[in-house]
Amino acid sequence: MVRNIQIRISLKEEGQPGGLKAKTAKYLGISEDDFEFKVQRKSIDARKPTIYFNYKLEVYINEPAPKETTYHFDYKDVSQAKPIHIIGFGPAGMWAALRCLELGYKPIVLERGKDVRERRRDLKAINQDHVVNSDSNYCFGEGGAGTYSDGKLYTRSLKRGDVRRVFESLVFHGATEEILIDAHPHIGTNKLPKIVENIRETIIKCGGEVHFNTKVTDFNLRDNTINSIVINNEKELETQRVILATGHSARDIFELLHKKNIALKAKSFAMGVRVEHPQHIIDSIQYHCNGERNELLPAAAYSLVQQVKNRGVYSFCMCPGGFIVPAATANGEVVVNGMSPSKRNNLYANSGIVVEINVDEDLPTYEKYGVLKGLEYQKTLERLAFTAGGRSQVAPAQRLTDFVEGKTSQDLNPTSYQPGLNSAPLHSLFPKLIGGRLRKGFAQFGKKMKGYYTEEANIVGVESRTSSPITIPRNEKLEHHEIKGLFPCGEGGGYAGGIVSAAMDGERCAEAAVVGL
Ligand code: FAD
Repeated sequence: MVRNIQIRISLKEEGQPGGLKAKTAKYLGISEDDFEFKVQRKSIDARKPTIYFNYKLEVYINEPAPKETTYHFDYKDVSQAKPIHIIGFGPAGMWAALRCLELGYKPIVLERGKDVRERRRDLKAINQDHVVNSDSNYCFGEGGAGTYSDGKLYTRSLKRGDVRRVFESLVFHGATEEILIDAHPHIGTNKLPKIVENIRETIIKCGGEVHFNTKVTDFNLRDNTINSIVINNEKELETQRVILATGHSARDIFELLHKKNIALKAKSFAMGVRVEHPQHIIDSIQYHCNGERNELLPAAAYSLVQQVKNRGVYSFCMCPGGFIVPAATANGEVVVNGMSPSKRNNLYANSGIVVEINVDEDLPTYEKYGVLKGLEYQKTLERLAFTAGGRSQVAPAQRLTDFVEGKTSQDLNPTSYQPGLNSAPLHSLFPKLIGGRLRKGFAQFGKKMKGYYTEEANIVGVESRTSSPITIPRNEKLEHHEIKGLFPCGEGGGYAGGIVSAAMDGERCAEAAVVGL
């Protein structure tokens, strides 16, 4: 007999060998010898001083639990199949390509960046030499913006696709099964590159193509249909169906579409700073301990939100035990983001803290840029951060308390941000729209999480690439409503906000692109 049950065990019980099994036996009123179980879900409840683990279990009474689950995907040989061109090999492009394999179409992926190994050198150059390669960086290259990240797999877009399928395909390509169980799964930047490589291998093994150093620089239309794309300004490729999955940082693509009078829409987005605390402070607050968290507990995370003058101020992409990284895609700008290794064992906790920007109301002086106004606003703040940091990848920073109190910091706290920090009066440099709200928001956060508002935290500018400031409109067939054969996809299209939602959108776009081909 198989039973599904929920069990709650304390941290102390969790620490005892066989603790979960003993508790389950007690709950079921049977002997430990009479059953086996599989964990379906695991979460931590740390709201009160006694911390609990909540488990959902599948219990096999008087029968053995299945030993192994295999995850099967019907990837076909597509070497002779009709092609689908996919621009960009981030999560949206990768899962669009995988779905093409299942549907029996040949994905031809064109990616401006380098493969994951080569890409590492360019990341080193950003961190150490302050040189940004505009085609290979933390946003561009194999795996897209999701490769050197925390690999958080949390999504709110549950209705937009099959989250479980995406998770299972990650496991199929090398992620651990824990991601199927954890309530807040993540993979970690040390493990993501191998998974991305495995996905590439699947595509190539099935007869698909993945081309690196291949930037789409133009495309040609006939009768409002996309019929060819130009790569690296030289080679033209005939196309019938094009999935455009270039991400939120491909500004040249937005500018190209705009130049060609292809409809785009300005979209609200968010901007702010990254805040960095010593991890032990966040652990102390979340786990009610004195800095030394129990070894069974992961580095603590948090999620904060506050309304300030009709705009949301909220935490974004929180990275426990992580690093702040330089995520600029061109020289002359400073952009920060966060990533973590799988063990989340670095000494710092960082998170974006951002303010909602309502594109219809908040940018009156940018109206002259039309649909590109949000993008131009992002650029302005990124250049400002570049100047305030000292014209390199050194980022402008301030102690959190100084920022809120409006004082320049005499010195800064140690940081995980490799290129280094420069003390700058961010309280006066930021436009009021963002700066004023952030300052109020942080003060409120300090009341919600006692100890969060501390001079031991730095804020680092600017967190500007939280989401796309532009939508590329598409109809119910997921095709651009003016251009036939063009399928805007993923975060750059305005249809995703993270790894999993981008992957699910990739799958949907592949399904839409093959219709009638
Ligand atoms: P992208 O991942 O941006 O991929 C677009 C790809 O298109 C890139 O590889 C780019 O090189 C390529 N491209 C662009 N222009 C062209 C062109 N003209 N020709 C050819 N190729 C082109 N999300 C999470 O869910 N969890 C996290 O933990 C997380 N952490 C992050 C950490 C960092 C440092 C960053 C930068 C982002 C993080 N994100 C995270 C966000 C997440 O990575 C993105 O939401 C996701 O990658 C979007 O997927 P995408 O495929 O739509 O676009």
